[in-house]
Amino acid sequence: MSNVPVAVVTGSNKGIGFAIARALCKQFPGDVYLTARDPGRGQEAVAKLQEEGLRAQFHQLDIDDLQSIRALRDFLKEKYGGLNVLVNNAGIAFKVRDTTPFAIQAEVTLKTNFFGTRNVCTELLPLVKPYGRVVNVSSMAGSSALRGCSQELQQKFRSNTITEDELVKLMTKFVEDTKKSVHEKEGWPNSAYGVSKIGVTVLSRIQARMLNEQRKGDHILLNACCPGWVRTDMAGPKATKSPDEGAETPVYLALLPSDADGPHGQFVSDKTVQTW
Ligand code: NAP
Repeated sequence: MSNVPVAVVTGSNKGIGFAIARALCKQFPGDVYLTARDPGRGQEAVAKLQEEGLRAQFHQLDIDDLQSIRALRDFLKEKYGGLNVLVNNAGIAFKVRDTTPFAIQAEVTLKTNFFGTRNVCTELLPLVKPYGRVVNVSSMAGSSALRGCSQELQQKFRSNTITEDELVKLMTKFVEDTKKSVHEKEGWPNSAYGVSKIGVTVLSRIQARMLNEQRKGDHILLNACCPGWVRTDMAGPKATKSPDEGAETPVYLALLPSDADGPHGQFVSDKTVQTW
């Protein structure tokens, strides 16, 4: 088994994830795994880094596929006995002009951004080693969506005692409410992407609390963040930040020094803790 530190970035064949992998190749003292759901696109991305003189490893990972997540888990367990840095970056967003019915957009978006990210966490968090760092890439769109929720929902999503089960039930209810066209009546905002990112931020707050309760001595720091508005296939060419600039906050959180005791359980943007 290798004692080399290991970092994993989900959805890193392009966009912000690729830039995070690039920065980690330069700054992380260990093996960096660029992962992608499509091995061809993943290997191409690894080759691109190689042309820049950077060495990333590749492993397939489709966060919508539990078998794929478990294959990565078993690989990490066997080869490294765990992992040191996990960046949950993979995500999707329908374009504003997309005419796919809202209920389908809600189901598909939540499936990857919330349920997929949660499944990765369920399988990989137990493997994170002491002084490990976990970064869940969320979005300011989640904060805006939170403000668009009913007072009752806002209170639940801001609660310091909400459980993962309760959060899962709420995310499931959103998808069901959109199918019955009652989501607005039920206090939800009109953004499936926004609700999925509420889920990612609240999940991070819950996971950080669980780490405090169950693994306090391990000094693991786990946060959600917004990369900013970044020029990628998702956000388009008019966005204000380059992918490398978008990677700055996630990389800062992934490389928090071993003597740092925070941030932890926070939503961070431009390297600054935001009020949730
Ligand atoms: P992007 O260019 O569309 O890249 C998304 C990445 O996620 C791609 O590598 C994609 O792989 C991967 N992915 C999608 N579904 C996946 C799955 N089921 N399993 C594994 N990988 C999957 O988007 P981006 O702008 O870099 O976004 C990265 C993250 O930042 C997302 O979580 C996004 O919500 C968040 N974010 C972005 C912005 C922005 O302005 N761009 C702002 C706030 C937050 P494929 O190539 O196979 O599709």
